[in-house]
Order: sequence, then structure tokens, then C-alpha cells
Amino acid sequence: MESIKVFAPATVANLSCGFDVLGCCLDTVGDEMLIQKNDLKTVRITKITGQDLPLEADKNVAGVAVKAMLEHLNLEQGFDIEIHKKIKAGSGIGSSAASSAGAVFAVNELLGKPYSKNELIPFAMQGEFLASGNAHADNVAPALLGGFSLVKSYEPLEVISLPSPEALRVVVLHPLIEIKTKDSRAILKQTVNLKQAVQQWGNLGAFISGLYTEDYELLGRSLKDDIVEPVRSILIPFFEELDKLSAKHALGFGISGSGPSVFALCKGDENAAKVYEEFQEFYKTKEIEFDLHVSPVNPEGIKIL
Ligand code: ADP
Repeated sequence: MESIKVFAPATVANLSCGFDVLGCCLDTVGDEMLIQKNDLKTVRITKITGQDLPLEADKNVAGVAVKAMLEHLNLEQGFDIEIHKKIKAGSGIGSSAASSAGAVFAVNELLGKPYSKNELIPFAMQGEFLASGNAHADNVAPALLGGFSLVKSYEPLEVISLPSPEALRVVVLHPLIEIKTKDSRAILKQTVNLKQAVQQWGNLGAFISGLYTEDYELLGRSLKDDIVEPVRSILIPFFEELDKLSAKHALGFGISGSGPSVFALCKGDENAAKVYEEFQEFYKTKEIEFDLHVSPVNPEGIKIL
């Protein structure tokens, strides 16, 4: 195979109770990437549409992730990467992760799959390091593996795939203001109060239990975050109002990744449509442009097109 086209999905990381360790994959929002072998022994970003992003391979997460993989393989093969961006950078729905994960997935396919999807995660994390100064896996793991992913540990890296109840739907509202992951990390405290930590790991455990038992109500009750959300939500216009609005039809509500996107987790299409409508009606009256998405959880992750 000389070239491949892939769909690189958006992802919702943290999911309130799982800061830096939990994420899920979306199905209806994502980029397209076309990757082909070249004879130049270099990795090039040959085209980017939809967003103004660096074409220099060392400054683009896709280039950095692929180079990390080729270095590990000790291989000199070159690749041309085209990125057709639908996910806006700095949106909080894994724009950088989609490119990093999409690129290493595609190159792995072109090379006859020397790595499993799990083994590709560390290479994609190098792209995240470039984007945010932190090699987190809670977007790249669900983008590669699909469904929900739990990062059990970073050293050594261990990622666990979790089940995803059929009826889950995710509504994402992206206010079109940019918050860089770097900046929204910088405002976080580096220490956690024990009482808050106890509550948080209780919620994370309960959320995972809810995924296995398909207990939708429990999933909703577990989407809580007293550690990061109070600090980051200040950066998100009308966060409180959206939280209240979603309460009637959503299971839970929170910040997607590092924001400014917010997400509402819902049971079934009908509830998701109501939340979508309510968010739309509310935000239309504000002077901030926004994107709104609704998606099932994508069980498979990156797809070959
Ligand atoms: P998100 O959470 O939506 O991924 P980040 O702030 O983490 O947003 O990442 C966006 C940053 O990564 C921007 O500074 C952007 O210029 C940089 N970047 C480099 N290459 C890419 C790429 N291919 N796709 C998206 N962002 C990229």
C-alpha cells in the first residue's frame, strides 16, 4: 500500500472525574488525513486545509508523532501528510490528538502494522507534548482505540479500554474563543486537597462501574469535578448557565478537555436533541459564535476511508 486516507476523530478528555486519565472518542466530528509514502526519506506536511497550522513537520504534531515512530523503528522511509482540518485547534476536543493519532495510525497501516494500536499511543503522545508541553494520553488513546479509555498509569504507560453503553450520546458546545491547553494548565494548582481527592477517585471508580453495568444514572452522578472545573470554568463564557440548562435532559455536564468546549453526556437521541436545541437557543442570544455537535461514542476510533 502506497497511500491511505483516514478519519481522525475528535475526543472528549477528562470527562470531569478523570483529569488526564479518562477520555472518549466521538463519531461525527473529525479530520481527514491523506498519507502517502515518498522517496525522499523525509516526513513532509504537504497540505493543510481548514485551519492555519504549521506546515513545518517539526512544528506540526502529525510530523512530530510520525518522526518519533520512524525513529523507534530505525526506518528512513519518508511520508507526505495532508491534513484536512474540521476540528478547530485549541477547541478542547482533541484537535492536536486527532492529527497525532491519525498520522501514526496511517503510517502504521502503510508499513504493514508493525505496532498494535496500543503501542502507537506513546508516539502520538509526542505530538501532544509539542502542542501543550505535556505528553498526556487521554485524547490520543481514545482516538486510536475508540470508546472510552482509562490511562491507568503514565510510567509505565498502561491504557485500558472500557466498554461504552450503546445509548450514550455526547453534545459538545464549542464557544469560538481560543484557550490554549498550555494556558489552561498553567492556572491549575499543583496540589490537591485530600477531601477533594477522595471524592474524585470515588467518582472516577463509580463512572467506570457505570460503564460496565450500563447504569446511566450512575454515570451522570459521577460526572463531578471539584478540583479542576472550579478553576477552569471561569474561562468559559456562561458555563454555569449551560450546566443548569443541561440538567433536565442530560445525565451530566462538564468541561471537555481543557476547554473552552463543554460537553453534556445524554442517554439516547431524544435527550441529546433536546440538550442540543436548548444550548443552541441559549447561545444564539449571546455575542459569541459557537459550534455545536452531537455524536454517539465511536467504538472503533480512527477509520480507514
Ligand atoms: P486541542 O485541545 O483542541 O488539541 P491544543 O491547544 O491542545 O488544542 O493544541 C493546539 C495547538 O497545537 C496549537 O498551538 C496548534 O498550533 C498546535 N498544532 C500543531 N500541529 C497541529 C495539528 N496538526 N492539529 C492541531 N493543532 C496543531
